[in-house]
Amino acid sequence: MTMRESYLLLLCDYGRRLITDRLTTGTGGNLSIYDRGRNLIAITPSGKAYEQLTPDEISIISPKGKHIDGQSPSSEWPLHTAVYLERPDINAIVHTHSRFATTFAILRQPIPACHYLIAVSGSSQVRVAPYATFGSDELAQQTVASLEKDNCILMANHGLLAVGTDIHKTYNIALYIEEVAELYYYARAIGTPALLTGKEMDAAHERFKTYGSKSSSGIDL
Ligand code: 13P
Ligand code: ZN
Repeated sequence: MTMRESYLLLLCDYGRRLITDRLTTGTGGNLSIYDRGRNLIAITPSGKAYEQLTPDEISIISPKGKHIDGQSPSSEWPLHTAVYLERPDINAIVHTHSRFATTFAILRQPIPACHYLIAVSGSSQVRVAPYATFGSDELAQQTVASLEKDNCILMANHGLLAVGTDIHKTYNIALYIEEVAELYYYARAIGTPALLTGKEMDAAHERFKTYGSKSSSGIDL
Protein backbone atom coordinates (compact mmCIF):
# COMPACT_ATOMS: atom_id res chain seq x y z
CA MET A 1 0.00 0.00 0.00
CA THR A 2 1.54 3.30 -1.10
CA MET A 3 -0.75 5.44 1.00
CA ARG A 4 -1.77 5.15 4.64
CA GLU A 5 -4.84 2.90 4.84
CA SER A 6 -6.45 5.33 7.31
CA TYR A 7 -6.45 8.12 4.70
CA LEU A 8 -8.18 5.90 2.16
CA LEU A 9 -10.84 4.93 4.71
CA LEU A 10 -11.34 8.58 5.69
CA LEU A 11 -11.96 9.56 2.05
CA CYS A 12 -14.56 6.77 1.72
CA ASP A 13 -16.26 7.82 4.98
CA TYR A 14 -16.37 11.52 4.14
CA GLY A 15 -17.44 10.73 0.56
CA ARG A 16 -20.48 8.95 1.97
CA ARG A 17 -21.12 11.86 4.31
CA LEU A 18 -21.26 14.20 1.30
CA ILE A 19 -24.37 12.30 0.27
CA THR A 20 -25.98 11.83 3.72
CA ASP A 21 -25.33 15.48 4.69
CA ARG A 22 -26.76 16.51 1.31
CA LEU A 23 -23.63 18.40 0.29
CA THR A 24 -23.69 16.80 -3.15
CA THR A 25 -25.64 14.40 -5.39
CA GLY A 26 -24.51 11.32 -7.37
CA THR A 27 -20.83 11.57 -8.28
CA GLY A 28 -20.58 15.36 -7.87
CA GLY A 29 -17.80 16.86 -5.77
CA ASN A 30 -14.50 15.31 -4.73
CA LEU A 31 -12.16 15.01 -1.75
CA SER A 32 -8.44 14.63 -1.25
CA ILE A 33 -5.76 14.30 1.42
CA TYR A 34 -2.11 15.23 0.86
CA ASP A 35 0.41 13.14 2.77
CA ARG A 36 3.27 15.62 2.63
CA GLY A 37 5.65 13.13 4.32
CA ARG A 38 5.25 10.60 1.49
CA ASN A 39 4.60 13.34 -1.11
CA LEU A 40 1.46 11.52 -2.29
CA ILE A 41 -2.12 12.70 -2.74
CA ALA A 42 -5.11 10.40 -2.15
CA ILE A 43 -8.10 11.68 -4.16
CA THR A 44 -11.57 10.29 -4.86
CA PRO A 45 -11.86 8.63 -8.29
CA SER A 46 -13.66 10.33 -11.18
CA GLY A 47 -17.33 9.61 -11.72
CA LYS A 48 -17.66 7.02 -8.94
CA ALA A 49 -20.76 6.95 -6.71
CA TYR A 50 -19.74 7.51 -3.10
CA GLU A 51 -22.07 4.83 -1.71
CA GLN A 52 -20.04 2.09 -3.43
CA LEU A 53 -16.58 3.58 -2.98
CA THR A 54 -13.95 1.22 -1.48
CA PRO A 55 -10.44 2.13 -0.18
CA ASP A 56 -8.63 0.31 -3.03
CA GLU A 57 -10.51 2.46 -5.57
CA ILE A 58 -9.22 5.74 -4.12
CA SER A 59 -6.77 7.22 -6.62
CA ILE A 60 -3.19 7.94 -5.59
CA ILE A 61 -1.40 10.66 -7.56
CA SER A 62 1.83 12.61 -7.30
CA PRO A 63 1.69 16.39 -6.67
CA LYS A 64 2.28 16.79 -10.43
CA GLY A 65 -0.78 14.65 -11.21
CA LYS A 66 0.95 11.39 -12.16
CA HIS A 67 -1.44 8.48 -11.58
CA ILE A 68 0.20 5.97 -9.23
CA ASP A 69 -2.50 3.65 -7.88
CA GLY A 70 -6.25 3.05 -7.66
CA GLN A 71 -8.83 4.25 -10.18
CA SER A 72 -8.51 7.33 -12.43
CA PRO A 73 -8.35 10.47 -10.30
CA SER A 74 -11.12 13.04 -10.00
CA SER A 75 -11.32 15.30 -13.05
CA GLU A 76 -10.55 18.13 -10.62
CA TRP A 77 -7.04 16.82 -9.87
CA PRO A 78 -5.50 19.96 -11.46
CA LEU A 79 -7.43 22.07 -8.91
CA HIS A 80 -6.40 19.89 -5.95
CA THR A 81 -2.71 19.78 -6.93
CA ALA A 82 -2.69 23.54 -7.65
CA VAL A 83 -4.02 24.26 -4.14
CA TYR A 84 -1.42 21.99 -2.49
CA LEU A 85 1.36 23.60 -4.51
CA GLU A 86 0.28 27.14 -3.66
CA ARG A 87 -0.68 26.54 0.00
CA PRO A 88 1.87 24.65 2.16
CA ASP A 89 -0.56 24.98 5.12
CA ILE A 90 -3.22 22.85 3.38
CA ASN A 91 -3.41 19.02 3.64
CA ALA A 92 -7.04 18.31 2.71
CA ILE A 93 -9.59 19.55 0.17
CA VAL A 94 -13.37 19.16 0.00
CA HIS A 95 -15.23 20.23 -3.15
CA THR A 96 -19.04 20.14 -3.06
CA HIS A 97 -22.05 21.14 -5.13
CA SER A 98 -24.07 21.91 -2.00
CA ARG A 99 -27.38 23.55 -2.79
CA PHE A 100 -27.35 26.86 -0.94
CA ALA A 101 -23.68 27.72 -1.42
CA THR A 102 -24.04 26.89 -5.11
CA THR A 103 -27.15 29.08 -5.35
CA PHE A 104 -24.97 32.09 -4.46
CA ALA A 105 -22.23 30.80 -6.78
CA ILE A 106 -24.82 30.87 -9.59
CA LEU A 107 -25.84 34.42 -8.66
CA ARG A 108 -22.09 35.15 -8.55
CA GLN A 109 -22.67 36.90 -5.25
CA PRO A 110 -20.44 36.45 -2.20
CA ILE A 111 -21.89 35.14 1.07
CA PRO A 112 -21.44 38.10 3.44
CA ALA A 113 -21.02 38.32 7.23
CA CYS A 114 -24.65 37.42 7.95
CA HIS A 115 -23.70 34.99 10.78
CA TYR A 116 -20.59 34.81 12.97
CA LEU A 117 -19.86 31.28 11.64
CA ILE A 118 -18.76 32.87 8.37
CA ALA A 119 -15.45 33.19 10.29
CA VAL A 120 -14.69 29.52 9.52
CA SER A 121 -14.00 30.74 5.97
CA GLY A 122 -10.89 32.42 7.39
CA SER A 123 -12.38 35.71 6.27
CA SER A 124 -15.57 37.72 6.77
CA GLN A 125 -17.19 36.64 3.55
CA VAL A 126 -16.99 33.82 1.01
CA ARG A 127 -15.99 35.33 -2.33
CA VAL A 128 -16.69 33.97 -5.84
CA ALA A 129 -14.00 32.69 -8.23
CA PRO A 130 -14.62 33.14 -11.99
CA TYR A 131 -16.24 30.41 -14.08
CA ALA A 132 -14.26 27.93 -16.20
CA THR A 133 -15.00 24.39 -17.44
CA PHE A 134 -14.86 21.72 -14.72
CA GLY A 135 -11.55 19.86 -14.58
CA SER A 136 -9.72 22.51 -16.62
CA ASP A 137 -6.35 24.07 -15.83
CA GLU A 138 -8.04 27.43 -16.24
CA LEU A 139 -10.50 26.59 -13.45
CA ALA A 140 -7.62 25.38 -11.23
CA GLN A 141 -5.52 28.53 -11.74
CA GLN A 142 -8.40 31.00 -11.38
CA THR A 143 -9.81 29.30 -8.30
CA VAL A 144 -6.47 29.11 -6.50
CA ALA A 145 -5.74 32.76 -7.35
CA SER A 146 -9.16 33.80 -5.97
CA LEU A 147 -8.83 31.64 -2.85
CA GLU A 148 -5.76 33.58 -1.66
CA LYS A 149 -5.25 32.68 2.05
CA ASP A 150 -8.91 31.87 2.78
CA ASN A 151 -10.37 28.48 3.78
CA CYS A 152 -13.05 28.42 1.10
CA ILE A 153 -14.31 30.02 -2.09
CA LEU A 154 -17.44 29.79 -4.22
CA MET A 155 -16.83 28.53 -7.76
CA ALA A 156 -19.09 30.45 -10.18
CA ASN A 157 -21.97 28.33 -11.56
CA HIS A 158 -20.41 25.24 -10.01
CA GLY A 159 -20.00 24.82 -6.23
CA LEU A 160 -17.81 25.31 -3.20
CA LEU A 161 -14.14 24.59 -2.52
CA ALA A 162 -12.99 24.20 1.10
CA VAL A 163 -9.37 23.70 2.16
CA GLY A 164 -7.81 22.97 5.54
CA THR A 165 -5.13 21.39 7.65
CA ASP A 166 -6.92 18.02 7.90
CA ILE A 167 -9.96 16.31 6.38
CA HIS A 168 -12.11 16.62 9.54
CA LYS A 169 -11.75 20.41 9.75
CA THR A 170 -12.04 20.86 6.01
CA TYR A 171 -15.25 18.85 5.84
CA ASN A 172 -16.70 20.90 8.71
CA ILE A 173 -15.82 24.15 6.91
CA ALA A 174 -17.87 22.95 3.91
CA LEU A 175 -20.72 21.90 6.24
CA TYR A 176 -20.81 25.18 8.23
CA ILE A 177 -20.57 27.36 5.12
CA GLU A 178 -23.49 25.47 3.60
CA GLU A 179 -25.49 26.16 6.78
CA VAL A 180 -24.63 29.87 6.66
CA ALA A 181 -25.55 29.98 2.95
CA GLU A 182 -28.92 28.37 3.74
CA LEU A 183 -29.64 30.84 6.55
CA TYR A 184 -28.65 33.79 4.35
CA TYR A 185 -30.93 32.51 1.59
CA TYR A 186 -33.90 32.31 4.00
CA ALA A 187 -33.15 35.71 5.52
CA ARG A 188 -33.00 37.31 2.06
CA ALA A 189 -36.20 35.57 1.04
CA ILE A 190 -38.24 37.26 3.77
CA GLY A 191 -36.38 40.50 4.46
CA THR A 192 -33.15 42.45 4.42
CA PRO A 193 -30.43 40.68 6.41
CA ALA A 194 -28.51 42.71 9.01
CA LEU A 195 -24.80 42.11 8.43
CA LEU A 196 -22.09 42.00 11.09
CA THR A 197 -19.65 44.92 11.11
CA GLY A 198 -15.90 44.55 10.59
CA LYS A 199 -15.41 45.10 14.34
CA GLU A 200 -17.95 42.39 15.21
CA MET A 201 -16.27 39.95 12.81
CA ASP A 202 -12.82 40.81 14.24
CA ALA A 203 -14.17 39.91 17.69
CA ALA A 204 -15.58 36.60 16.34
CA HIS A 205 -12.23 35.73 14.72
CA GLU A 206 -10.49 36.56 18.03
CA ARG A 207 -12.93 34.42 20.01
CA PHE A 208 -12.37 31.44 17.68
CA LYS A 209 -8.67 31.48 18.60
CA THR A 210 -9.57 30.05 22.02
CA TYR A 211 -12.67 28.07 20.98
CA GLY A 212 -12.77 24.28 21.40
CA SER A 213 -10.11 21.89 22.67
CA LYS A 214 -7.17 23.64 20.93
CA SER A 215 -5.43 20.31 20.52
CA SER A 216 -4.38 21.48 17.07
CA SER A 217 -3.68 24.75 15.27
CA GLY A 218 -6.30 26.85 13.49
CA ILE A 219 -10.01 27.09 14.26
CA ASP A 220 -11.09 24.05 16.27
CA LEU A 221 -14.24 22.85 14.50
P1 13P B 1 -15.26 13.91 -10.55
O1 13P B 1 -16.27 12.79 -10.44
O2 13P B 1 -14.32 13.71 -11.73
O3 13P B 1 -14.55 14.14 -9.24
O4 13P B 1 -16.05 15.24 -10.92
C1 13P B 1 -17.05 15.76 -10.11
C2 13P B 1 -16.98 17.25 -10.02
O5 13P B 1 -17.48 17.79 -9.07
C3 13P B 1 -16.35 18.04 -11.10
O6 13P B 1 -16.22 19.36 -10.72
ZN1 ZN C 1 -17.60 19.98 -9.17
